Amino acid sequence: MVLLGAQAQREVARARQRVLAAMRSQTRLQGRFLGGRPPYGYRLVDGGRHPNPVHGRWGRRVQVLAPDPVTAPWVRWMFAERAQGRTVASLARELNERGVACPSGADPERNAHRSGERWIVRTVAMILENPRYTGRQVWNRSSTAGHGSGSRPGGRGSGVLRYNPVSEWEVSERIVHEPLVDDETFVAVQGMRVAKPAKDGEVRPYLLAGLIVCGLCGRRMDGHWVHGRAGYRCRHGFTSAKRRSDGEPRNIYIREDHLLKALLHLLGRAAGPVEKGVGKDLVDQVREQHLQIHYSDQRLEMRPAPLMLKSAETARRPV
Ligand SMILES: [Zn+2]
Repeated sequence: MVLLGAQAQREVARARQRVLAAMRSQTRLQGRFLGGRPPYGYRLVDGGRHPNPVHGRWGRRVQVLAPDPVTAPWVRWMFAERAQGRTVASLARELNERGVACPSGADPERNAHRSGERWIVRTVAMILENPRYTGRQVWNRSSTAGHGSGSRPGGRGSGVLRYNPVSEWEVSERIVHEPLVDDETFVAVQGMRVAKPAKDGEVRPYLLAGLIVCGLCGRRMDGHWVHGRAGYRCRHGFTSAKRRSDGEPRNIYIREDHLLKALLHLLGRAAGPVEKGVGKDLVDQVREQHLQIHYSDQRLEMRPAPLMLKSAETARRPV
């Protein structure tokens, strides 16, 4: 295994500091979540005494997410069907046809302003892209941005809730509640999402979707199309609402064809042109061996994928 250079190590340490700082600042939000509404498919149950002894001593308890017996099977069903290649729209249709209560119907307090009790495509899509169903805690899924030019960072009550792009979410390594989907199926479903048709109607598949990890900040790199070519990009959690300071790392980007060539080498295959079938074959090997490709400082490194759960039958890769 290639060791990270000193420069890269410092950058990883800095990225980690930022992540930790962000997590600390999310404590308030997290507390609000724990007392708030669970995602569709889960309910809140008593999780025992608060881990912080100061709180625990006066009897404070924590609540944890547990599968809801009525709605959890539908979440599992959505992931399984989607992984088999069904469209999100057809899932929404079937849920309506079968009379399954949608999130606002299952939990009347949620979206109380909405009268519609039917599944819409966006609702199913949001469930399918929520990493909390892998059993992990997720931070930074949304942020509150202030209105207009006088936005006040940290100001209360003035902001609008904005959903951050998936690349900006912070996902815990540790499983903190019972998953409703295994990691492989979840990643496969995300890969299908990024392979949606472009404006010209052409489908742009990202062969390595979900497999490339940014060595600087640890996020999965997003598929990104540049000059007619597939590639992968990390913006290290950069949001346009924040000005990037000089010391922070710039976006990194790597072309898919360069990655595939390097993969040949990393997997010990004979060098040669990487044609379509060969590329697919290499990617299958990476997935089967539960590996990820870490990229930083112009270097690639294969690592075991973290916390890979037992793969389900539905984890077979859709084309
Ligand atoms: Zn990054």
